[in-house]
Amino acid sequence: MSTAPQVKAPMDEFNPFQAMAQRFDVAADALGLDEGVREVLRTPDKELTVAIPVTMDNGKLKVFTGYRVQHNFSRGPCKGGIRYAPDVHLDEVRALAAWMTWKCSVVDVPFGGGKGGVICDPRQLSKGELERITRRYTTGIMDILGSDRDVPAPDVNTNEQTMAWLMDTWSMHVRRTDTAIVTGKPLALGGSKGRTEATGRGVMIVTREALKKLGIRPENTRVVVQGSGNVGGIGAMLLAREGMKIVSISDIYGAIYNEKGLDIPDVLAYLKQNKKLEGYTKAQHIPSAAQLELDCDVLVPAATENQLTSKNAERIKAKLIVEGANGPTTVLADQILERRGVMVVPDILANAGGVTVSYFEWVQDRAGYFWTEEVVNSRLEQVMTTSFAAVEETARKHNTSLRIGAYILAVGRVANVYQMRGTYA
Ligand code: NAD
Repeated sequence: MSTAPQVKAPMDEFNPFQAMAQRFDVAADALGLDEGVREVLRTPDKELTVAIPVTMDNGKLKVFTGYRVQHNFSRGPCKGGIRYAPDVHLDEVRALAAWMTWKCSVVDVPFGGGKGGVICDPRQLSKGELERITRRYTTGIMDILGSDRDVPAPDVNTNEQTMAWLMDTWSMHVRRTDTAIVTGKPLALGGSKGRTEATGRGVMIVTREALKKLGIRPENTRVVVQGSGNVGGIGAMLLAREGMKIVSISDIYGAIYNEKGLDIPDVLAYLKQNKKLEGYTKAQHIPSAAQLELDCDVLVPAATENQLTSKNAERIKAKLIVEGANGPTTVLADQILERRGVMVVPDILANAGGVTVSYFEWVQDRAGYFWTEEVVNSRLEQVMTTSFAAVEETARKHNTSLRIGAYILAVGRVANVYQMRGTYA
C-alpha cells in the first residue's frame, strides 16, 4: 500500500475552493500543522463584494457585481489578478486568492494572496463600458487596496489597458501618481520589461525542466495548448522557440490542429487581426473537448478551471501536463492521472512566472529604477528553475505528486511566518 499522502475527492468536483482546501489539508497533515493554524490559513482574511453601477452606451444604467478577496497577508501585501467573465463567482475568487498565497510562497516572493473578479461578458462590452466598469470597480474596492496592502494585476479578459485605468483611478483619488498600485501595466506607465511574456515564459521553463526529468528531448515533443491568450499564446510561442512542435491550440470557440506543427507566430497574427481562430485555413478545426484528448506528449491547459476532470482524465494521452491556467485539473482527475503515471506540473508552480515578474515590476516601481529585459528574464529563469527543483525535492521527500509537494512547500513557508508573527489579540 502506498504511504503517499492522499487527497480526498471534494464534495463538489467542480468547486475550486473545495479543491484548494482538500489539497491544503493533505499538505497540513504532512506538515503536522496545528488545527488552529490550519483554520487561519484556510480562511480568507477579507472578502469584499461591491455593486458597480455603470451607464451603458445606450444610456441605460446597469449594475454589475465585483469581488476582491484577500486570502492571507502573512508574507506581505496581497497580490493577485482581476478577472472579467460572466461566470465569476465568489468561491472561484476565494480559491484563486488562496492559490495566489501558495503560489507566491512556492516561488518565495514576499507577497500574500488576493484575487478579484467582475461578473460581466467583455465580448459584449464596448471599450468605454469596460473603462467605466473598471474605474467604478476600483473605486468600490479601493479601501482595501494599496501598494503595501493589495496590488492587483491582469487575469482572464483583463490586460495592460485595464491596469492603466485602475492605476489612473487610484492615482486620482490619492492625488499623486502611484504606479506600484498595480502590476502588468503598460511599459510607459511603470510596467516591467518581460511582464507580458512572464507567465508564458515560466510555463516554458518548467516544461523544459519537467521534460529533462522525463528524459524527453524538446525536438521530440508534441504539445497541445488550450487557450491562446496571454498564457497560452505566448507560452505556445516560447515552447515552439525551444524546438517543440505545437500541434494544437484553441480559443473559447474551438481548436485548430496540424500534426506537422502549427506556425505559432502566424496563428497569433491571425488571432490578433480576427479576434478568433475561426476561419484560419492552415489547420484542421476540431471541437474543444476533442483537443484535450489528442495524441501528444505535453498538454498545457492555459484557459480556465475544471478542464481535466473525472469525465476525461482516463482519455488524456499526454505524458506531461503543465498547468498554465489556475485550477484546470480537478481532484478526481488528479487521482486518475497519478494512477496512470502522468506527470502534472501544478498551477501554483507552473504559472508563477507572472507573479514573479509582477514582483519585479513592483520592486522597480518602488525604486524608480528599471531593469533591462535580459535582467528580468535571467532572474525569472533563476526563480523558476530553483522553485521547480525545490518542489521536486519536497515531493520526493514526501513520496507524493508535484502538486502536493508544491502545497507542502508553500503551506509550510506561510505557516512558519504566521507562527513567527503570532496571533495579534
Ligand atoms: P486571456 O484572457 O488572455 O486568455 C484566455 C484564453 O482562454 C483565450 O484564448 C480564451 O479564448 C480561452 N478560453 C477562455 N475560456 C475558455 C473555455 N471555457 N474553454 C476554452 N478556452 C477558453 O487569459 P490569460 O491571462 O491567458 O489566463 C489564462 C489562465 O491562466 C487563467 O486560468 C489565469 O488565471 C491563468 N493565469 C494567468 C496569468 C497571467 O499573467 N495572465 C498568470 C497566472 C495564471
